[in-house]
Amino acid sequence: MSQPALLRGQIVAGSATDVGRQRERNEDAMLARRPVFAVADGMGGHAQGDVASRMVVEELDHLVQDDESVTTSDRLLGALRAANERMVAASSAAAGGRPMGTTACGVALVELEGEPRWLGFNIGDSRVYRFADGELQQVSVDHSEVAELVQAGVLDAALAHTYPRRNVVTRSLGHDPMLQVDAWVAPVAPGERYLLCSDGLTGELSDDDVRDVLASGEPAQETAERLVRAAVDAGGRDNVTVVVVDVSPE
Ligand code: CA
Repeated sequence: MSQPALLRGQIVAGSATDVGRQRERNEDAMLARRPVFAVADGMGGHAQGDVASRMVVEELDHLVQDDESVTTSDRLLGALRAANERMVAASSAAAGGRPMGTTACGVALVELEGEPRWLGFNIGDSRVYRFADGELQQVSVDHSEVAELVQAGVLDAALAHTYPRRNVVTRSLGHDPMLQVDAWVAPVAPGERYLLCSDGLTGELSDDDVRDVLASGEPAQETAERLVRAAVDAGGRDNVTVVVVDVSPE
């Protein structure tokens, strides 16, 4: 596969995770190896959330090869489907019927018509944010009951963070053999930062808090660690996982 020369060495990522203050196990998983940056949140209440989130990361990790700087949308979606099939098979009655499920979100570098592009993807309520020109924007759409109620105009967005069933996801890997993935393409822009996170971050910190940390301009690794530490300090009620991906300024 050809490599877009302008991307060599221009992407720097950092990552951090913490079990938090209340959970016994960390059921989140992450991947921060070019060309794939991802966060997976194994679903609470399931016996094997940590197994499920690791399966996604294992499949996505197959896309990481030393001699390739980009992947393809077919390969990325194939990896997500392979992880889903493994989970559905493991959850089946024949396999002992232990249900497992996980979210997954992220960005991957792909090449389209000779140009590097981000391929964003999301299933569930982990989030992809983009920070550029001082503005933080959530670019993934949550697949959650609370997000659907806000979208339908039934629930005020300002009340979403106190909605009692805010942890209920409406889409995830591990349940439906016909996996539905949100996917989108975006240009790779100099100076932008992507933030991938599990809901253990956004459950503790406001978007303004998150933006302030991203705006500090610290390197990706320090930024990821600072965000995770802030969420744990704010309560740490869930596992917290963050991947920060920086495109260097030209
Ligand atoms: Ca979580």
